[in-house]
Amino acid sequence: MFLRSFGRQLLRAPSSSSSFLSANVSRAAARSVSQAAVYRNSLFCGSRALARHHHHHAGCGCSGSASRLTTKRGSTAAGTVASEISAAAAAAGAAAGIPRMQMGAVITKHGSPEEVEFKQIPVPEPGPGEVLVNIKFTGVCHTDLHALHGDWPLPAKMPLVGGHEGAGYVVKVGDGVTDVKLGDRVGIKWMNGSCGKCEYCLSARESLCPHILLSGYSVDGTFQHYAIGKADHVTPIPDNVSLEVAAPIMCAGITVYRALKEAAVQPNQWVVLPGAGGGLGHLAIQYARAMSMRVVAIDSGADKEKLCRDCGADVFIDFRKEADVVAKVKEVTGGGAHGTLVLSTSSKSYQQATEFSRPGSTLVTVSMPPDAQLNADIFWLTVKMLKICGSHVGNRLDSIEALQYVSSGAVKPVYKVQPFSTLPQVYSAMEAGNIAGRIVLDLSL
Ligand SMILES: [Zn+2]
Ligand SMILES: [Zn+2]
Repeated sequence: MFLRSFGRQLLRAPSSSSSFLSANVSRAAARSVSQAAVYRNSLFCGSRALARHHHHHAGCGCSGSASRLTTKRGSTAAGTVASEISAAAAAAGAAAGIPRMQMGAVITKHGSPEEVEFKQIPVPEPGPGEVLVNIKFTGVCHTDLHALHGDWPLPAKMPLVGGHEGAGYVVKVGDGVTDVKLGDRVGIKWMNGSCGKCEYCLSARESLCPHILLSGYSVDGTFQHYAIGKADHVTPIPDNVSLEVAAPIMCAGITVYRALKEAAVQPNQWVVLPGAGGGLGHLAIQYARAMSMRVVAIDSGADKEKLCRDCGADVFIDFRKEADVVAKVKEVTGGGAHGTLVLSTSSKSYQQATEFSRPGSTLVTVSMPPDAQLNADIFWLTVKMLKICGSHVGNRLDSIEALQYVSSGAVKPVYKVQPFSTLPQVYSAMEAGNIAGRIVLDLSL
C-alpha cells in the first residue's frame, strides 16, 4: 500500500512553460525578503548573491558577475573539475575543521515557500555505514515542492531539510566504511539508503525496498552544507564531471535513464516522449539518442521545440498545433511508438500514449499528474499485447551508468545555477509552472 500510493506520486515532470522567470518571481522575491534577511545576517555574501540574481533577470543584458546565472548546457568541465578535486583533497586533509553548526533550509511545517527558513542547524554525525558529504551543489526537484506542500499521502519527517540532487565531497566517514574515502566526490540521490536484504534489494530493485530511506523526505537531504548518505548508496562522480553538472543527474537523469531501459526500445526504433521539453524530457531525449533510439518529442511552443531539437529529437510534434497527435505519431513512426515514456503532467498524454503505442510495445509511466487514472481499452491492450509499467528512479548501477553518459559527453544537462538563498523563489516559480530545464543551487552563494 505504501509503495503503491507512493509510487504514483513520487516524481512529477517539471511543468511546461518556456521561460523560468516572470513577474511571478519578483512577487516571490518580495515574499522571501524575510528569509533573505535571515540568510544575509548569517552568510557573508547572501545579499550580494540575491542582488546579482535579480539584476540579471531584470533583462538589462549586462554581463560580468551575472554570467553565472545564465542557462548552461554542460557535460564536462576540465578546469572546474581540477579545482574541485584539489579542494576535495584539501577538505579531506582538514576533516577536523568541520564546523559544529551550519546553514540549512528548514521547514517546520507544510505550506507555501514562506515556510522555508534559512537557519543554523547542527552538522550531523555519520553513524556506522554512513558518510558526511559537504554539499556544493544541489538540484531542486518537483518532489521537494511536494514535501513542502505536504500533499502526498506519505508523511515527511518534520522539521525537514529537503533536497535530493546533491553533489559534494566526503569529509567524514562512519564506522565500518571502507570503500568510500575522505575527499571522494559523490552524489546524494533520492534513495539515501535501503536495507540490502529484502527481496527487492537482493534483486537490484532497491527503489521498492520497504525500508527505503528517502533524502529530503524521510531523512534530511541536500539543502544544507553537510548531509548524511549511506556509504553503499552515494554515487561516485567521474573525475571529468563537475559537481554542478552531476547534481541534476542524481534524480532527473537517473529517472529517465532507467525508464528508457524499461521501455526496451531497440537501436533505430522509435521512442516517443510526451512532455519532452521539461527537466526530465530534455535529458530523456539525449539518453535515448545515446542509446541509438530515434526520438519523437511532443511538447508545445517554439522554445520547447528548439530545446528538443538541440537535444537531438528527430521529430518534434507541437500538441497545440497538431490536430491529431495520435495519427501524427503513427505516421512519423510508420505504425506507432516502439516505446513511450510519458513525462507530461497532463493525463490526456497518457490516454494518447495508449493509442499511439505500436503493437507489442511498452508504455512507461514517469510523470504523475494529480489524481490521474490511466484508462486503456482492454480489447486493444490485449490484442496489441501492450505492456504498461511504472518506473521510479533507478538502482545504484543505473546511477553510475547515468553519470557515465555525462562523462562521455553524450548527455549534457541544461540548467541554471542560482544562489542557495533563492530556494523559496524556485519553489514559487515551480508553483507557477515557470521552470524550463533544471535549477541547480550553489551552496557557496
Ligand atoms: Zn527528484
Ligand atoms: Zn530492502
